[in-house]
Amino acid sequence: MTLKVYEVTREGTVRVVRPEAEVVPVAVVDHTAAFPDCQCPQHRSEGTDAAYRVFVEHTARCATCRAGAPCATAAHLCRAWRETRR
Ligand SMILES: [Zn+2]
Repeated sequence: MTLKVYEVTREGTVRVVRPEAEVVPVAVVDHTAAFPDCQCPQHRSEGTDAAYRVFVEHTARCATCRAGAPCATAAHLCRAWRETRR
């Protein structure tokens, strides 16, 4: 089996990202590695929802955030929310 990776622009220009090469197919496919966890409301964890709500509520109430200025608390809460999504 061979594998070649290329990009095609809207104009039809082809750019080879990785030239054609022989590859050995895997015997067992790890499906969990293929896609990140679903983030739809039905499947995302409670922790993600809660952390997101805390972040959004802060940005709605904080004077610094409402003024559009950099806010250390918002940055911290946003980071905490991102951590829950991993
Ligand atoms: Zn803030």
